[in-house]
Amino acid sequence: MRAKFLLSGLLAAALCGPALAQTTPTEKQVVDLSSKAIALRSVRGEGNQTGKVAELFRKALIDAGWKAAEIEIVPVDDTAYFIATWKGKNLALGPIVISAHMDVVDAKPEDWKRDPFTPVVENGYLYGRGASDTKFDTVQAMVAVMELRKAGFVPERSIVLAFSGDEETTMITSKVIAEKLKGARLVLNVDGASGALDEESGKPAYWSWQGAEKTYADFALEVTNPGGHSSAPRAENAIVQLAGALTRIGAHHFTPEVNDITRDYFVKAADFVSDPLLAAAMRAFAKDPTDKAAIAVLRGNPATIGKIATTCVPTMASAGHGLNALPQRATAFVNCRIFPGHSPQEVMAELKAVAAEPAMTIRQIDPEFTTASPASPYDPVFVGAATRAIQSAFGEVPVIASQASGASDSMWYRALGVPSYGASGTFMRESDDFSHGLDERVPLGNIGKSLEYYRLLLTELSSK
Ligand SMILES: [Zn+2]
Repeated sequence: MRAKFLLSGLLAAALCGPALAQTTPTEKQVVDLSSKAIALRSVRGEGNQTGKVAELFRKALIDAGWKAAEIEIVPVDDTAYFIATWKGKNLALGPIVISAHMDVVDAKPEDWKRDPFTPVVENGYLYGRGASDTKFDTVQAMVAVMELRKAGFVPERSIVLAFSGDEETTMITSKVIAEKLKGARLVLNVDGASGALDEESGKPAYWSWQGAEKTYADFALEVTNPGGHSSAPRAENAIVQLAGALTRIGAHHFTPEVNDITRDYFVKAADFVSDPLLAAAMRAFAKDPTDKAAIAVLRGNPATIGKIATTCVPTMASAGHGLNALPQRATAFVNCRIFPGHSPQEVMAELKAVAAEPAMTIRQIDPEFTTASPASPYDPVFVGAATRAIQSAFGEVPVIASQASGASDSMWYRALGVPSYGASGTFMRESDDFSHGLDERVPLGNIGKSLEYYRLLLTELSSK
């Protein structure tokens, strides 16, 4: 999952030429290693090459001075996870974990202009499935750690590279890794939030870090009837009953709320919003999440509705078995994005109550693939270090907290009480973000600055 651009949908887009590619040996190493990783089709299912990505990364670390015993690659089903530990001076301190995933969403070559698994560098961009989600960033963070170790830096806290192998699908390895590393001081997830480049100038506009994400949950709703001939209707009709329940659910609003992360977002992001009514509503809601006028404005905007409350929406429905038969079954699916701090069970109970249809059953689909997770704290140690590192590498850009509407590996750490922060060192134009989509790409113009950011951030966080 990659849910990056906090102002998505709020800013006007305008395309223009990309920055030039860089050529220092370390920057070249980032492009080479991420290209090799993109060429490996690390998609769950037959022919999954996630294990080969792990081998590629192991070799790179060993070439940079890691010992074989410091790197663990564990196969799980057709995938694998990867944990490389660089021990700090004080093993009593919780480590700093760099979290990423090696798998990618599948891509159909026939739909792409370029083959998704043949990396191409063109006009200052690296193209390929996994470029922006999230092989390039994984490699940048890894190369920054290699540079620190090669330079003779010794951290106080251990620095652990922890890469899952099924973040885009079942998250089994994500869950296992989080459990193994639950003693960590904090997690830096390169797959989450990041920097935005100004659409026109291509200069860094702002940087966001992700401190919370909503919980994904699907529910199946069903009404069954005995059925019968359509010429002899009964009082109870499964389609009518379920349609009534769905109408009530569709009209329902969960209680708006704010946390430290979304408050910071609303206050700071309001400065970038051109619509004065929307900007005022963002500021007002941050101050008072019961402000009815502000809620109405934020609810009316697809870019902000998901940031103020849990949302649930019917997404699929099917019913009946014959044009001349009373329906025996009506089924619908409702997809929810749950505000941090609430469980799927709690939301399911609210949906059941709102549906007010005694004949309707409701159950959660695949509950094992998800978990409720609280927002990570607004930790001044992390925010301070990240702000200094970003501003020293990229200049005085605003730093804004964000809450994602999707899920990443961070949720498994947060569910265990380990603070996790999306903290990607990549800056992109919003119009260049094609994560999970066609012609996925990442701009190569800022590798040197991104490496500097990661080095500064890791140096500071691992030293205290
Ligand atoms: Zn991702």
